[in-house]
Amino acid sequence: KADNAMYLAKKRGKNNFQFYVYENEDIMERRLKIEQGLKAALDNSEFELHYQPKIVLTSGEICGVEALLRWRHPELGVISPLEFIPVAEETGFIRKIGEWVIKEACRQNKLWQKSGLYIKVAVNVSSIQFEDDLFAERIRQALMESQLSPEYLGVEITESVMQNVELTSVTLHELKQLGVKVSVDDFGTGYSSLSVLSKMPIDLVKIDKSFIDEMLTDSNTASLVKTMITMAEDLELDIIAEGIENEQQVTFLIENGCQFGQGYLYSPPIPSAETEKILKQQLMPV
Ligand code: C2E
Ligand code: MG
Ligand code: MG
Ligand code: MG
Repeated sequence: KADNAMYLAKKRGKNNFQFYVYENEDIMERRLKIEQGLKAALDNSEFELHYQPKIVLTSGEICGVEALLRWRHPELGVISPLEFIPVAEETGFIRKIGEWVIKEACRQNKLWQKSGLYIKVAVNVSSIQFEDDLFAERIRQALMESQLSPEYLGVEITESVMQNVELTSVTLHELKQLGVKVSVDDFGTGYSSLSVLSKMPIDLVKIDKSFIDEMLTDSNTASLVKTMITMAEDLELDIIAEGIENEQQVTFLIENGCQFGQGYLYSPPIPSAETEKILKQQLMPV
């Protein structure tokens, strides 16, 4: 009996082991493909920026767009930034990719301006990029090269950046001097202390989608959202809600004093040509 049990355990163990190995091999192979693919992606022009409109909730007007990176892998197809950005951060490629994102956003925006479309474009910036001493200098250069004025570029950083208070504060002041506005993305999901936040020269906080998802069904989340809006008012920051998917959310946000929003209700991130069409309709009404 004991032998039999041992045999079964071994057999099952072995099967489990094999299953485990196979599953891991797939994951590791994909990860390796992504890592190796990132090296060539820039040279092969596999990256593209899509743009998601930011909306004035009370009027429905577009007041800006957020640039979101898309990668078309030759073999794996379109890969989400949620999957490849962490790999790019671990391998350091994020520096080059981030630089491309900034330059591309400036280039595109200048092109829009040449056809009479004036809109602010915000780019997402990884903490690794932001912690580079020369970050503000790189932004200045990108603006200079593209001839874009600073008020038409914004950067979105996450709360995790705030942990390095001294460095962050220096860079934020440099950006302020340049005239580039800074948003704190995914606000409420990290743990930035309010006292730190209040001392930093930031311009806008973005309430994370997870709060917007739950604020109508969970009263604690509703309170949190209201608190964030009040806090932003007190600190004289603008506040924008991320991931709005229905009208009831808009109503709640307007009633509680949140002026701006973005989300699938208005538009998902879309390619530059489509963005241009929408901007033409909205910014130059016939
Ligand atoms: P994020 O900056 O917080 O961007 C918001 C994400 O939510 C985007 O996903 C957007 O497509 C999605 N979203 C917007 N509205 C809705 C909605 O109503 N419903 C749902 N379900 N989703 C919505 P995406 O484009 O996949 O980007 C994910 C994250 O990847 C971004 O979060 C950002 O952290 C990062 N990311 C994207 N582009 C870049 C980039 O150029 N550089 C860096 N460092 N990170 C980037
Ligand atoms: Mg963002
Ligand atoms: Mg966000
Ligand atoms: Mg988010």
